[in-house]
Formats: sequence, C-alpha cells, structure tokens
Amino acid sequence: LQFLRGMPKIELHAHLNGSLNIGSIRELAAKVYGVQTKEFSALCERFIKFEKGAKLDECFEKFGLMHELTATKEGLESATELVIRDFAKDNVIYVELRTTPKSNENMSRRSYLDTVLGVIRKTSDLYNIKVKLLPSINRAEPVDVAEETVALAVELSAIEPDIIVGIDFSGNPNQGKFKDFMPVLNKARNHGLKLAMHCAEVDNPLEIREMLRFGMSRCGHGTYLSASGFEYMKEENIPIECCLTSNVKSGTVANIGVHHLKQLMEADAPKVLCTDDSGVFDTTLTDEFFLATESFGLTRSQCIALTMEAVEHAFATREEKLMLKMQIYSYTRRQN
Ligand code: 5GP
Repeated sequence: LQFLRGMPKIELHAHLNGSLNIGSIRELAAKVYGVQTKEFSALCERFIKFEKGAKLDECFEKFGLMHELTATKEGLESATELVIRDFAKDNVIYVELRTTPKSNENMSRRSYLDTVLGVIRKTSDLYNIKVKLLPSINRAEPVDVAEETVALAVELSAIEPDIIVGIDFSGNPNQGKFKDFMPVLNKARNHGLKLAMHCAEVDNPLEIREMLRFGMSRCGHGTYLSASGFEYMKEENIPIECCLTSNVKSGTVANIGVHHLKQLMEADAPKVLCTDDSGVFDTTLTDEFFLATESFGLTRSQCIALTMEAVEHAFATREEKLMLKMQIYSYTRRQN
C-alpha cells in the first residue's frame, strides 16, 4: 500500500462533483453555509445518513447534495480547488476533470466553465499537478444544452488549448438517445476535441453498436461490451476506463472477482484504472490500485505499467507525456 500511495498516478476519469469526498464536503459546507447555521446542521444530518449506508440510490442522491454546494461561483471555486487538492494529496500528478456546465440564477454555463478554468489555472502549480478539463454532455438533458456546451468548449479551447482538451459524454445511461447527440459530438471532434464516452455501461446492444461505429478516443466503463466489442477496442487502441469500486457499488458488475479488468489484462487490451466519483464511492486512486492488486494479483511492475499506459492514453501533449513518464520512472528507480 505504501508503494501504491507514493506512486505518481494518472487519473483519466473523474467527475468534478462526484469527486468531492466527505471531508471536503464538510469543509465546503462550512464555507458555503457557515458552521453555526441551520443549513449546515441540516446538511450534516443528511450526510451522516450517506456515511453509514452504501446503497446505490443513496450514492446517486449524493450528486444532488454536491450540486447544491456548487450552485454558486464561490461554492464551485472552493469545490474545484478541494478536488484538485485531494487528487494531489493522493500523489495524482495528472488529472482530467470532467464536469457538466450548469446554468442557474447565479451562473450561466459560460461562467460555470470560466470559474472552473480559473481555479485550474491558479491551483495546478500550487498543488504540483497537471489538470485538464473535459466539459460533459449530460445525455439526460436536451440536445440544445449539449450544443451550447460544445460551442463553449470549442470557443474556450481556442483560448485555453492546454486545459480544455475534450468532451465527456455521460449522465444516466437509461435516459436520452445516443443517436440524437451524434451531430453535436461530431462537431466537437471536427474541432479537434477528443471524445471520452460512457459506453456499454448498461446492456443496450443497439446503442453499443452505434457508439462503436461512431468511434471515440476512450471508453468509459465498457462493462457490457461483447467479446467482439473488446476485440474492436483492442484493434482500435481505445482504452476502457475501468472504475472498479464505482462499478461494484453501483451494481453494474456483480462483484470485484468478475470485473472485466481481468479479461482486459488477459487479452492485453488497452485499459486504465480510474476512480469515476471518488467522493460518491468513497475511494481514491491508490485504493483502486490496491483493490486491483488484491483481487487480480497485480504486481508492482504491472501497476507501473498500467500507469504508463494511462500516460499514453491521456489527452496531453507529447512533451507533457514525456515529463509524466520521467516522474514515474524516477519513482520506480528510487524504489529499487
Ligand atoms: P458533474 O458533471 O456535476 O461535475 O459530476 C456529476 C455528474 O457526472 C452526474 O450528475 C452524472 O451526470 C455524471 N456521472 C457521474 N458518475 C457517472 C457514472 O458513473 N456514469 C454516468 N453515465 N454518468 C456519471
């Protein structure tokens, strides 16, 4: 565990609001509401319920709780900084954060993204971590919202090409039709944005076929891919972003022993280990590696190889990848 904790790690699948852990939520709530207020006490009460239970519906309710706390510019700023800080604390040296721009009475989608970008610019050096941003399309929302998100991503990526590097396609997989989002996703791709898509998270063969035909740079979860789907991913060098704890806790994988990471490793297919929602699922990237070593017998060198593989699949520049690899390499040398 010590080795894994100290290992420089690469996080490629992390939803901003889902990555707020319990401690940080308390810190944030104290800032947003003040410690002495009724609102703070009420929030703590609701949170205690979550801390004890681990039922799926309750886990997903947590997103709503986090969205309440990040509904103002100040809340969103603090949350973004806390999430970056927490990844850095876990020795994550590179993180791609995804988040759905939201509009409400306090913020437009543009100011939501501007706020997150501002914090990334300010804190990357402070915490010694490289941070990229993938604006998310929530498939449960109308297509015109996705169009606004992509238009903003395209515009802002021209100003911040080092930070905004792609689009995430996520949200409840049982809602919205992938087909309806194809034109807007195509637009993003034609503008040079990479696509990280939640795909085969639920058993929907028709949609899985549509997605594979459409193509993507990385595949989120890939739980219900068939054998030929896995083969296709290998041929096309599309990595599956494996989120062990998330998949087990949300029940898309029956238990850790049958997680498809094992199959991917045996087939030498591209894969990366990620947290998904480290706050909601109460995990860290170190925990995910530990779980993989305990469940599938990964050796230290396999953990390093997985991390190097993540560097390869990161939406980073060649120079950035070289720097990351050097940091990982120098850690392994110090350990030997
Ligand atoms: P946010 O975009 O608000 O920063 O992060 C939370 C959102 O990410 C959720 O409301 C949901 O739309 C999306 N999300 C988080 N985890 C998952 C997941 O495991 N699967 C899918 N499909 N979407 C997710």
